[in-house]
Amino acid sequence: LTVAGQKVYETGKSVVSGTKKRILGQNEKPFAVLISPEEGADVTRKKLENLFKNVKDKPVAIYSISGAFRKGKSFLLNLFIKYLEKLEAGNGQEVGHNWMDAKNNALGGFSWRGGMEPNTQGILIYSKPFVIKNLKGRKTAVFLMDTQGLFDSDSSMTKCSSIFALSTLISSMQIYNLSQQIQEDNLQYLQLFTDYGRALHEIATSNKNQKPFQHLMFLIRDWPHESEGFGWEGGKKVLTKILVTKKSADDDLKSVRKYIMASFETVECFLMPHPGREIASRKDGDNTFEPHKMDEMFRAYVDSLARDLFSPQRLALKRIGGKEGTCGNMIDLISGMLHNFNP
Ligand code: GDP
Ligand code: MG
Repeated sequence: LTVAGQKVYETGKSVVSGTKKRILGQNEKPFAVLISPEEGADVTRKKLENLFKNVKDKPVAIYSISGAFRKGKSFLLNLFIKYLEKLEAGNGQEVGHNWMDAKNNALGGFSWRGGMEPNTQGILIYSKPFVIKNLKGRKTAVFLMDTQGLFDSDSSMTKCSSIFALSTLISSMQIYNLSQQIQEDNLQYLQLFTDYGRALHEIATSNKNQKPFQHLMFLIRDWPHESEGFGWEGGKKVLTKILVTKKSADDDLKSVRKYIMASFETVECFLMPHPGREIASRKDGDNTFEPHKMDEMFRAYVDSLARDLFSPQRLALKRIGGKEGTCGNMIDLISGMLHNFNP
């Protein structure tokens, strides 16, 4: 695979299992590093130390995406990689709107294929941090994280919960990727999975008063109601409808909503248009990327989303115990949690 003309490692099934034992060496091209609760705390710590080693003292922002498989999660992350490469290279300069058209005909980074076969299970962190400036002008390390194989029928609930919990605890922003709408069972899953994470957070930080997680963003793909608007604006309306407890709503639903609002510091929603038929119906194994095949509207909203998420104003800085955390702090936090993990 190539990203912006550079060769990167394949991230298909075979290589992901290969990353289990791999530790990132010097001058290695970026690839997706697998973090799994099953590997044990020591292996994970080693991997994290390697991931963070060049940016240990920097503030950190970690963006995670989760949700059912084959809903365009990895596809979007790979577009974010393209954007962040440009942003980093421009060193604070605004990125032009044609960043998606960079001359390369494959979309690399996170395994991304058409078809039905799910591939990995676990958390994948892109080994390259993107160093960009935060609001204070300080250089911040941005990491992208993919979760795969969750919410699928063939994975056990406990395993899913533990992976989701871990990804939510590690990240500063959890993007919950959904198709077309927010359904009641999407919220129930979220509560179930979040529950696991809350418990771990309490053990790791012995703090019961703080909200355990930072930002939650519902990202609704293929939003079908164009007339109601896309982006943040439309998302606000959807969120109000769904999350604000109606007086008449039944008690179960009320408690799910309350729980979610109480677990995250901020909850937002962004509505994404359909990418177009050619993107949505790719053949299995097809990894080529032709930017012109994306609908104009989709391109525009991907562009706007990337700009917002990684802008100094919105950059989701990771905080640990209420304070701005560095990559170094993250290693201790995550290792601490893993010791209490029962996958
Ligand atoms: P993941 O399993 O959620 O990571 O999904 P992938 O990123 O591997 O994408 C699965 C398929 O969905 C690919 O064929 C993509 O081309 C396609 N796809 C990407 N983005 C979207 C989208 O926003 N809507 C739809 N309907 N399909 C998409
Ligand atoms: Mg994927």
